Amino acid sequence: SHRITLGPLVAAIDQGTSSTRFLVFNSKTAELLSHHQVELKQSFPKEGWVEEDPKEILQSVYECMERTCEKLTQLNIDISNIKAVGVTNQRETTVVWDKETGEPLYNAIVWLDLRTQSTVERLINKTPGKNKNHLKHKTGLPISTYFSAVKLRWLMDNVDEVHEAVVSHRAMFGTVDSWLIWCLTGGKSGGVHCTDVTNASRTMLFNIHTLDWDPELCTYFGIPMEILPRVRSSSEIYGLMKICSSRKSGALSGIPISGCLGDQSAALVGQMCFQEGQAKNTYGTGCFLLRNTGAKPVMSDHGLLTTVAYKLGRDKPACYALEGSVAIGGAVVRWLQDNLGIIGSSEELEKLAASVGTSYGCYFVPAFSGLYAPYWEPSARGIICGLTQFTNKSHVAFAALEAVCFQTREILDAMNQDSGIPLTQLQVDGGMTSNRLLMQLQADILCIPVVKPSMPETTALGAAMAAGAAEGVSVWSLSPEDLSEVTSEKFEPQINPEESEFRYARWKKAVQKSMNWET
Ligand code: ADP
Repeated sequence: SHRITLGPLVAAIDQGTSSTRFLVFNSKTAELLSHHQVELKQSFPKEGWVEEDPKEILQSVYECMERTCEKLTQLNIDISNIKAVGVTNQRETTVVWDKETGEPLYNAIVWLDLRTQSTVERLINKTPGKNKNHLKHKTGLPISTYFSAVKLRWLMDNVDEVHEAVVSHRAMFGTVDSWLIWCLTGGKSGGVHCTDVTNASRTMLFNIHTLDWDPELCTYFGIPMEILPRVRSSSEIYGLMKICSSRKSGALSGIPISGCLGDQSAALVGQMCFQEGQAKNTYGTGCFLLRNTGAKPVMSDHGLLTTVAYKLGRDKPACYALEGSVAIGGAVVRWLQDNLGIIGSSEELEKLAASVGTSYGCYFVPAFSGLYAPYWEPSARGIICGLTQFTNKSHVAFAALEAVCFQTREILDAMNQDSGIPLTQLQVDGGMTSNRLLMQLQADILCIPVVKPSMPETTALGAAMAAGAAEGVSVWSLSPEDLSEVTSEKFEPQINPEESEFRYARWKKAVQKSMNWET
């Protein structure tokens, strides 16, 4: 038997909304060698509130690192081959902690959380013309519950500990990347307080043109700039891992953390969408379609966001993307399981829906957190409509899958209108893409092929690539030749476009009802 010669290895921490993963890649082949995943608890203390425990998030990272190290050892792979670690994370989710004790001052407020709805309404009411796009020229974003600034404002107004820590200069703010990097580089004893341009671009405090925090935006939200992390590029050495030697992951100490990207940016990189016009859709808790627009930020006329896609090195230019964000994607699956109890696991959904193969005229708009792109309507609520005596849980399951596809279709239409150049196929990834029925339905509803890479962990791959390519690490070249290595599966549209249009038109009617059901 011959031993495979391994290139240098690069690891990634992928801290998502529903789970945390640690993954190790071979930098020569992009092959995934080993990984471990831990599900995360979310709490819903009040209607519309979504929280996670920052310490549990950190603990899940340690656990994933430890288990993966054990697996590598079993595979006879030396952990010292790992040359760099990248971080990718759920974006916008907001953490405030005390830099002296190292303790979080409140739970993390998750991006989906709606508690700031009244704050948002108050802010919009005081802007000229009550225009929710008042800050869009600087941020690329509408004023919405989605972004970090309003969550941070809420914490300062409603949590005494946060207020006091801010006043006494002990508070640190960060999205999950900042929290993790600070903890993993030493925490209260010298941790590095930083974030990258992609994560910063989701806070609403960041000017996407100057690529720095914006004093005017900070004043608008009343946020003191001293609590903000330093903004760095997505690919450079931020600091070295400093892990207590009593931990089993202590062997990772000393490895540079040299990549940082919000999860959707990381997926764009991992899918190698480096050319202007290329796009990918990620099906996780939500769905996020990003299209690379190159060195220029493009402002949408159709309800899409403008965001920093990546900046792969201190001296490299920033690349921008148009983004369509859908709040509820895979989260609807968890809702069918936890709240309705009609499936026992997410895998069961496919079988249940496939058993009927149609929604039988039933439409399900899962506007649990209002509607994001292209509507940005926080007061929308979920509806299931078109029910008859004949409708059963299989039809509802099918309608839930179709909802994910219709929402993606709305984003794709907006994207095509904004750019004038229709996408001819859609690259996809994320947890939900293991559902083959969903992939086929998506191709049918978009009327274009859907292409899924055979290595599904593109988010982690993107973070690992950024870490491995950083100056001073340089074990990964981001060359387009790598593209030829990628194998994928293609789902071709199978229904006729007329039928697809008919169903889509019905869906749009249902969306109108979800927005106006109160009046
Ligand atoms: P995130 O990065 O947001 O944590 P993931 O990419 O890990 O999300 O995907 C997890 C989501 O995918 C969950 O919401 C889960 O319900 C959904 N999911 C996983 N497997 C399936 C499946 N076979 N069918 C439908 N949904 C699935």
